[in-house]
Amino acid sequence: MKILVVEDELNLATFLKRGLEEAGHVAEIALDSKTSKVLVATGKFDLLVLDVMLPDGNGFQLCKDFKFLHPKLPIIMLTSLGATNDKVTGLDSGADDYLVKPFQFSELLARIRVIERRNESGLKPVILEVYDLKLDTDSKIVTRGGHPIALTAREFKLLQVFLENKNKVLSRLEIAEKVWDINFDTGTNVVDVYINYLRNKIDKEFKLKLIQTVVGMGYVLRTE
Ligand code: CA
Repeated sequence: MKILVVEDELNLATFLKRGLEEAGHVAEIALDSKTSKVLVATGKFDLLVLDVMLPDGNGFQLCKDFKFLHPKLPIIMLTSLGATNDKVTGLDSGADDYLVKPFQFSELLARIRVIERRNESGLKPVILEVYDLKLDTDSKIVTRGGHPIALTAREFKLLQVFLENKNKVLSRLEIAEKVWDINFDTGTNVVDVYINYLRNKIDKEFKLKLIQTVVGMGYVLRTE
């Protein structure tokens, strides 16, 4: 990514630029808001790292201005330690994310990766579907036959795992690992309990049953 670091502390700005370049990005520095406006106007940057305290202006206002002129330009704000209001103001001013100083550089890289991934998916919602069932991984909305179905977070995750593994028989252990991130003692029936909850919501009132039991092996969502 081409990243503009707007930061008046030269040492920090230089450190950030070097780190970003080592991570494979292209980085430039603007030491004040006036310079940053000139550079952003070139349209060559994919991301801004923007400090709040600048010698010739307030980063929040600058963020607002940039978001007005370039709504799609992602901005990560650097706020001051412990200033909770800064976080709120930062997000209110349209920032995509914020980091509280002092921060670990690896944390900044992680936030940048999140924004990169978001860009790659083009902000498009990811819809998983089978027959008349749809699951939107972004909005977390599930519908069957166009009617919304209210699921708990766990049921949602369970359904998502089935949709990502269509026609694959999943053992209880696999399901437990994917949905709960842990290994269950073999004695527990929590998976069966949740499958039952889910069936009651997505299958019970429909003629075509999506989740099927494979005796002695587990469960499968069949599409054929
Ligand atoms: Ca500053």
